[in-house]
Amino acid sequence: MLAQGLSHIIFNASNKEDFERTLIFYKSLGFKSITDSPEEDTRVAWLKLASTVSIKVILTASAIPQRKPAGDTDWSLEEHALAFSINNIDAVKSKLKELDAPDQDHSDKNSTKLYVLDPLNNIILLTNKPAILKATSAAAAVETATASGKRQKIAVLTSGGDAPGMNAVVRAVVRYGITKGCDIFAVYEGYQGLVDGGDLLKKMDWKSVRGWLAVGGTTIGTARCMPFKTREGRLKAAENLVLNGIDALIVCGGDGSLTGADLFRNEWGGLVDELLKTKRISQEQANAYHVLTIVGLVGSIDNDMSSTDITIGAVTSLHRICESVDAVSTTALSHSRAFVIEVMGRHCGWLALMAGIATGADFVFIPEKPPKEEDWESLMCSVVERHRHLGKRKTVVIVAEGAIDKNLNPIKADYLKDILTDRLGLDTRVTILGHTQRGGAPAFFDRLLATTQGLEAVDAVLEATADTPSPMIGMTDNKITRFPLMKAVALTHEVAEAISKKNFARAMELRDPQFAEEYEAYHATTILDDCSLGLPAHQQLRIAIIHMGAPAGGMNAATRTAVRYCLNRGHTPIAVNNGFAGLARGSMSEMTWMGVDGWTALGGSELGTNRAVPGEDIDMGMVTYQIQKNNIQALMIVGGFEAFVAIEKLEASRDQYPSLRIPITLIPATISNNVPGTDYSLGSDTSLNAIVNSCDAIVQSAQSSRRRVFVVEVMGGRSGYLAVEGGLVVGANTVYIPEEGINLGRLQSDVEHLRAMYTDDDPDKSEGRIILRTEDVSKTYTTEVISDILKEEGDEMFDSRTAVLGHIQQGVTPSPLDRIRATRLATRSIQFFEEHTAEALDKAHESGSPVPIELTNSKASVTVAGISGSAAIFTPVTDLLPITDMKNRKPRNAWWAEHRPIIDMLAGRGHFKIEK
Ligand code: ADP
Repeated sequence: MLAQGLSHIIFNASNKEDFERTLIFYKSLGFKSITDSPEEDTRVAWLKLASTVSIKVILTASAIPQRKPAGDTDWSLEEHALAFSINNIDAVKSKLKELDAPDQDHSDKNSTKLYVLDPLNNIILLTNKPAILKATSAAAAVETATASGKRQKIAVLTSGGDAPGMNAVVRAVVRYGITKGCDIFAVYEGYQGLVDGGDLLKKMDWKSVRGWLAVGGTTIGTARCMPFKTREGRLKAAENLVLNGIDALIVCGGDGSLTGADLFRNEWGGLVDELLKTKRISQEQANAYHVLTIVGLVGSIDNDMSSTDITIGAVTSLHRICESVDAVSTTALSHSRAFVIEVMGRHCGWLALMAGIATGADFVFIPEKPPKEEDWESLMCSVVERHRHLGKRKTVVIVAEGAIDKNLNPIKADYLKDILTDRLGLDTRVTILGHTQRGGAPAFFDRLLATTQGLEAVDAVLEATADTPSPMIGMTDNKITRFPLMKAVALTHEVAEAISKKNFARAMELRDPQFAEEYEAYHATTILDDCSLGLPAHQQLRIAIIHMGAPAGGMNAATRTAVRYCLNRGHTPIAVNNGFAGLARGSMSEMTWMGVDGWTALGGSELGTNRAVPGEDIDMGMVTYQIQKNNIQALMIVGGFEAFVAIEKLEASRDQYPSLRIPITLIPATISNNVPGTDYSLGSDTSLNAIVNSCDAIVQSAQSSRRRVFVVEVMGGRSGYLAVEGGLVVGANTVYIPEEGINLGRLQSDVEHLRAMYTDDDPDKSEGRIILRTEDVSKTYTTEVISDILKEEGDEMFDSRTAVLGHIQQGVTPSPLDRIRATRLATRSIQFFEEHTAEALDKAHESGSPVPIELTNSKASVTVAGISGSAAIFTPVTDLLPITDMKNRKPRNAWWAEHRPIIDMLAGRGHFKIEK
């Protein structure tokens, strides 16, 4: 007998009589009780049929009884039936007669097809023909794993240094793998688990990975495994895989682990031959497992892998570093101290450089780009001294653990401390951050990266052929990619090699392009902030900076960098207070280097922000008058959708007002991420981290008290970005977003899904669940109404509560990614102003004319400064209008829409079902 394509089925009985009759029914079909104990659980029973399918029958008062199909309808036309292919059908028939089970015979001359009702009113098809499978039921949404119908067995392991997000990888692989009809095994303790086998190889089910998204490190363990570095160890690993029937391996680890994986795959054929020759496996096994599919995922806090822009864990680590540097900064400031902070990175300076940018450090040392100067000590001292003379009371120097000078001599934290103490007389302390950098709950970005890459890894396994080179899952230009593992490993090793040969240009080339750009920007704004990059006087501009809309993390960081870079180039940065309302009143002042000190880490808006749009709420004439009166020659706006409307109005008013013929950029800053022309707006990452932290706390509370579903309201206006991205990384049950709306049918199906999940839960456990709802999704189905409906429908089974996150979502301290994006877009905006004014200014200068009011009237000079993939791009507002939904205040297409279906899939939609 065989229930094709299924591994287990769950039935819910609403009363004891049905529960017992169901057990008798299935036992008559040949199912055997799994627990032979005389004191069998009287509420949950597991039955198994041979080695194939098992049935779980649960007695639960709140189960929804199944409708009995009418006897006079054709059961073969019913949508849901469970099919068993069976050899001795007559013997089973007579047993069913004894039970008096209703049936319909649809046999024809080719096959027997008997439809029977089980005591719970499920339609069961008994047939002697294996090919007949029309059934869908309970777990039948499961697709068969391979075309041949053989269930693919995939093992997943985490290896090398642990990285936050590894658990999210395992969760995604397990759940998506199960959805795809695969058996998923977790290998505990990294490669050691493969070598030792036994209990270290565990079959995972849907619930094994509950709650793993929020947990740092790796729950299945990792280890440095020396035996795997030997052929004997790998032979043992191969034997364990074959004996357990596993034909695919997903490895999440750093370059060492992936080097091992690559070697293992290359040797596989030889290992299997040897196992056969030494009779450790049979000929059939050797035939069946002659190919091993391996897929690599990069879990590494250092971001040291080539061929991917970012690795799993790096962003969380950067969070920990920035938190530490921010904390140390306050004590440094109090005592006027210097701190040398050592961060991880043996061959890679990503963490050190990004931390330097995000915290506004005075100097950074990284392995791939040693100081050019022989006497770098004096350079560092002159930079620090200059910053001190400008008024700084604190000094922060960040050094990667693998930092070197250009002669490959290590640059160590203690040595730096001695120099700062001896030469500058600074009270200097060393802080080595060490393992704190690995710890803690994964940040939003890592949860998202790990989840989407985990899904891609499973797809890569299922699509692999014997000839496919093992892929490494990466991310380039904000897109999940597959890259040959072998090549990625080779390129990564080349970085270390290039450094050892002092070929630093090659080492930088092998990093992602953004890394070099960020390094240059940091150098230009911090090391060379001695006005050595100053422009000729006639090209120096008066640049106004204005904040608009609601506060968003990164607004201050963008302003700080713009001010510092302006001063370095000889421009005059002018702060406008309180948005366009302030501009119309002429509320503005020149900014100074010290005036923006410490702003990278400040949330909110130091300039003051306002939603008033010129031409709508504010008189355009007053705005242009003030621009002309204060001789503003370029305008940098940091703001959200109102600011997008504002630049559109400014562009449209240029015909009328010559003083608007200046370059204008908008750096998108809004937690809703609804400004066209960018993948990310400043503040959205900070906000998602705030949402993640709040939701983790809410789920914990829900779990601790009783079975409770929280409906959490998030911001976003008419855009579902926060709900979708937040929902995906907190493991929400579902999300309600404006793009989809809500209706009764949807609510009903969500209630059913929740009931199915709570029915399947361990009765003695209280599981907390969470649903995210965008504030503007519906006027009728408010957060309260939805929660009340859930409460009512949950009856005894579960309760519901609401949580409105409100302004908590703006976050306190901007996240590192928002700070880095802010810094980048601000520097690029100032450069953009220079490019768009040089021609007019040079012309006037050459002809000896006065500086004109009109510097540019090109449409390309009023733009949104955005991030597209890994590039910073400037798109004219006139080009963005056709792709903008002005009514709903967002771009017409959203790149993140593809994440929406993943939420329901990973929440078990299709896996947990109560059929009616
Ligand atoms: P990471 O993956 O974080 O770089 P390691 O370099 O310590 O960490 O590697 C983790 C594990 O991967 C090692 O303990 C070993 O089991 C395996 N491994 C690393 N390099 C190799 C190799 N060259 N050959 C075989 N296995 C290796």
